[in-house]
Amino acid sequence: MQNDIDSAEMTLYQSLPLQASDAVSFTKLLCELPFESASIEPCTWAHPLRFRFTELSALDGSVIRSGRHGRFDGDMLALDDDCLPASSIAHELVRNRLLMLFIVDESSPAEPVCRILQLPGRRIAWNLKLALEVARSARFARQHRDELVLRGEVENYREAHCPVCHATLVLTGMPSSPQVYCAYCDSLMTFAADHALARYERPLRLCDDCGRFSRPQRFTVFYWYFLVIESGLRAKTAWRCPACMRRQAWTMLLGNLPFVIGVPGALWQLARAYLASNPSGPFRELESGNRNARAGKVTSALNAYRLVLERLGCSAGVKYNLAQVFMARGDRHRATEAMEHTLSDCANYDPAFEQLRRLYRQLGMQAELEELEAAWSATRGETSTSV
Ligand SMILES: [Zn+2]
Ligand SMILES: [Zn+2]
Repeated sequence: MQNDIDSAEMTLYQSLPLQASDAVSFTKLLCELPFESASIEPCTWAHPLRFRFTELSALDGSVIRSGRHGRFDGDMLALDDDCLPASSIAHELVRNRLLMLFIVDESSPAEPVCRILQLPGRRIAWNLKLALEVARSARFARQHRDELVLRGEVENYREAHCPVCHATLVLTGMPSSPQVYCAYCDSLMTFAADHALARYERPLRLCDDCGRFSRPQRFTVFYWYFLVIESGLRAKTAWRCPACMRRQAWTMLLGNLPFVIGVPGALWQLARAYLASNPSGPFRELESGNRNARAGKVTSALNAYRLVLERLGCSAGVKYNLAQVFMARGDRHRATEAMEHTLSDCANYDPAFEQLRRLYRQLGMQAELEELEAAWSATRGETSTSV
């Protein structure tokens, strides 16, 4: 592995527009922004989330009651005639269309009771989980603000609202930045973005496979097999970027060739992978940059990332990818610099925080590490309650 980038790549890196553009207004940090076209409707008393459900036993999975109606209005979760305050739900998990609720009562807060709801589909299960998390985010923000009031430090309180899911994001201790990250819906959005940019930003997130910021799609890898004693289907679904989809699709096609039946599906997935690699819009060079970064073509990757950054002025996700290029080369100093620029674009971008903290430790940058962790101390409490 090459341990350092060569001089031509260094010159290219130094010419990248890494400072966030002055054209971006930082003053909108605390305002509500009109992102209707990209947002999810919040649950309120007037507009509750309604759903049908079947309740299953947490002991053996048998049906307790079926065909029931549920409703969540942001404060109360009504399961037929059974009403639960949202504050009593410690956390929740989704497995396909099953939603597992872990409910605490005041008499035994350390031993949550699990209730399992089977929803009509996966989407409604995720929407209900997100709505419960959004309500929890608002409670956490209120508690945090009350603590600051008691300590006489309420002037330090800062929050923003996710333009997509309306979660309350605590930003106390963090510097202002042009973008905001929501750990609840995994979106990274620009505050001053117009509707068109917001629509392009909405589907961007980290790939499950390579961890690069991209436009991943739901992608199922499957293998049909017919053996002498057994036949069947082995499948696994994940969110993958077009570069990872291409590689997986070719492997899947070759793996399914001997048993023919899986070939049409594999060809369809291959076509999806190539169609997804040619996006339009302001991030159109992002996927080619990721593909080149994956192939170790640093100059081509930097050139592609540069085009996106020049067009947008800032993008924590693109700079995060840039940092990963240097991490793959073993250039920790350059990777640290790029991660710091990532947090300048989006002060609460959690993936960059984790990576930068690791880099500071590896480089023995103790003062920088302590400063970073102090800035994140308020938000860490939020994350630990939302797991
Ligand atoms: Zn959100
Ligand atoms: Zn990927």
